[in-house]
Amino acid sequence: MLSERAKKIKPSPTLAMDAKAKAMKAAGVDVVNFGVGEPDFDTPENIKEAAIKAIRDGFTKYTPVGGIDPLKDAIIEKFKKDNNLEYARDEILVSCGAKHSLYNIAQALYGQGDEVIIPSPYWVSYPDQVMLNDATPVFVKTNEKDKFIVKPDVLESHVTKKTKAIILNSPSNPTGLTYDKKALEGIAEVALKHNLYIISDEIYEKLTYDGFKHISIASLDNEIKVKTLIVNGLSKSYAMTGWRIGYTAGPKDIIKAMTNIQSQSTSNPTSIAQKAAVEALTGPQDFIKIMLTEFDRRRKFLVSGLNSIPGISCLTPTGAFYAFPNTSKLYGKYTAERKISSSSDLALYLLEKANVALVPGDAFGDDDYIRLSYATSMENIKKGVERIGDAVNRLK
Ligand SMILES: *Cc1c(COP(=O)(O)O)cnc(C)c1O
Repeated sequence: MLSERAKKIKPSPTLAMDAKAKAMKAAGVDVVNFGVGEPDFDTPENIKEAAIKAIRDGFTKYTPVGGIDPLKDAIIEKFKKDNNLEYARDEILVSCGAKHSLYNIAQALYGQGDEVIIPSPYWVSYPDQVMLNDATPVFVKTNEKDKFIVKPDVLESHVTKKTKAIILNSPSNPTGLTYDKKALEGIAEVALKHNLYIISDEIYEKLTYDGFKHISIASLDNEIKVKTLIVNGLSKSYAMTGWRIGYTAGPKDIIKAMTNIQSQSTSNPTSIAQKAAVEALTGPQDFIKIMLTEFDRRRKFLVSGLNSIPGISCLTPTGAFYAFPNTSKLYGKYTAERKISSSSDLALYLLEKANVALVPGDAFGDDDYIRLSYATSMENIKKGVERIGDAVNRLK
C-alpha cells in the first residue's frame, strides 16, 4: 500500500501538459507548444566543452556532497557581483537542480503542524513539496491590479503561530512579474516581525526586461539575510535544464542540515555537470544577453498579439519567459460542443481545436488565467497567436 504522503501528491501539471503536446507532435499533429518551461536555446558551446573535458580528464567519480569548492567559489563570486551578498563555502549547497534545492529546504525546515505561506498564483511544485513534508501550504491570493505582488498587510493577515516560512518567487513563474525594492521591504518587515524564514526562488534573476534590475530580498540588510534561503540555478539563465544544477545560499546550520539530507538521498550533483557549471558562471556571459534580446522581442510580440484578441487581456511581463493573460471573460461562452467554464476547459479546447498547447491557470492556483511560455520560435508564436485568435472568435 502507498504511504499517505504519496497519495497526497500529483504529478507536475506543467510537465504533464508538455508531455501531451509532445505526444500529439509525435503523432504528426502540427502543435504550437506554449507549454514548455525551458529555454529553446542550446547550452552554449564553452559549457559543453567543459563537461566533455571533465569526462576526458576522468572527473567522473563522487565529489563532496555539497559540491566541489571551485563551483562553490564561483557561486560565492556570483552573489558578490550580482547581489552584493557575502557568503562562505559552508553557507552554500549545490543540488541536483533548483527544484531539488527547494526540496532539501522543505525537508530541513517544514514538518507536521507547520504552515508555509505561498503567494498565489504560484509555481506548481511549492504546495506539493510542502505537503510531502507533512506541513500545510497557506495560499495568499495576489491580484492583477497589484501586478501580482503580495501586499504586506494581506501577508500579515495570513500569519499564525504555526507559520514557518514564506516562499517568494521573483521574477515569477507563472506571472512573469517582478518585485521591486519597496515591495520586498514590505515583505521583509512582516517576516522579521513574525520571525519567518523567507525562501527566495531567484531562478529567473538574469531574465528581466525594460531595464528592471533584480534585487534579492537577502541583500536588504543583514537581519533579513540570516532569515533568507536564496535558491537559484543554472537551468534557465544558461539553458541547462537537463544538467540539473541548482544551489542554495543561507544560514550555516540550515545548509548543514540540508547537506546531510542530500548525503542520505542523492549524494553529490553530477560531477561532470558541476564542471560545466563552473564554466557557465565564470566563463563569458554574452550568451545571456543574446537569449534575452530574443526573448524580449518575442515577449513584446506575444503580449500585443494576445491583447488584440477580444476577451483576452495580458499585463506586460517584466521577467522570466511567460505571459499570463486573463481569460476569465471567455468563461461562459460555448464551443460547437460544450461550454467553456474554466482555464482547463479553455486549454483543452485550444489544444484539441486549435493545436495550441498551454497551461491552464488553475495549475498555478488561479483559474482566471492561462500561461504561455515564449521560449519558442517567433514563427511558432505568430502561428500560435493567430490560431488562438481564430479559436476564440469561434466561441459563442
Ligand atoms: C524551472 C524552475 C525551477 C527549477 O529549476 P531546476 O533548476 O531545473 O530544477 C524552480 N523554480 C521555478 C520558479 C522554476 O520555474
